[in-house]
Amino acid sequence: MDVLRNKARDLLAQGQVQVVIGYEAGTGGARRPSFVRSEADVARLVWDADCVGNLAGYLTRAEIKKMGKIAVVANAATLRALLQLTAEHQLAEGAVSALVVTEEGAVLELSNAQAVTEHVATLPASLSAADREKLDQLMALSREERRAFWEQELQRCIKCYACRSSCPMCYCGSCTMDCNRPQWVPVASHEMGNLEYHTVRAMHLAGRCVECGECGRACPVGIPIHLLTCYAEESVRRQFGQPAGTSATLNYALGTFRPDDQETFIR
Ligand code: SF4
Ligand code: SF4
Repeated sequence: MDVLRNKARDLLAQGQVQVVIGYEAGTGGARRPSFVRSEADVARLVWDADCVGNLAGYLTRAEIKKMGKIAVVANAATLRALLQLTAEHQLAEGAVSALVVTEEGAVLELSNAQAVTEHVATLPASLSAADREKLDQLMALSREERRAFWEQELQRCIKCYACRSSCPMCYCGSCTMDCNRPQWVPVASHEMGNLEYHTVRAMHLAGRCVECGECGRACPVGIPIHLLTCYAEESVRRQFGQPAGTSATLNYALGTFRPDDQETFIR
């Protein structure tokens, strides 16, 4: 912990960054985001196995970008989101430094996409073993069984949009869900509207979801909604071989097109 705090203190003191985004103690032993802007505040920073949140969601917000150069304490999912956001031109190369606490307790400063890419290549998958098992079970179901599973789960959705707000890859300033001229998706929480919202969101995250699980953790009614977007990500990965969050320069399957594509619908 001291190594991380010292690193944050040095970066702030030398003016290399204006804010360090990390974790601090929250209520009930939980970890919550911490925005450290002065040397006096670095003592708030903590790092342990409970620091599971994906902090990359803050990096694209205008009020955070305005603070100046950023260093973010990064777990594996945050690193993957950093790469994906850079690939999608939401973060400028080198705009954010990632601080990675190693198992030995050292702190690595990864200050460019190349360094993050090389480090991510050494990391295990972001999905927990329990989620991996649940996702594999879902994948083994028939299409009809899977639809029945999600229809039942989504009956509990209250359309609070916490899943969208917590997702680092849901960064659009104006979301289709909020559009009311025309009203593409019903606002009310009912069976068909819920299914439409989550189907549209999963399609928008296909090939882009970094499998951090943040949307599932954010859901107040306990819907494992991250498994739907992980499913979409892995479907694209299987068909196009492009894992999300592994490169800052990869052209993602659903994020690019070629003018000479043989399909005409794109023109
Ligand atoms: S859809 Fe969920 S699991 Fe995927 S990147 Fe967003 S928050 Fe993480
Ligand atoms: S966080 Fe849960 S309840 Fe809220 S919109 Fe998402 S799935 Fe529905």
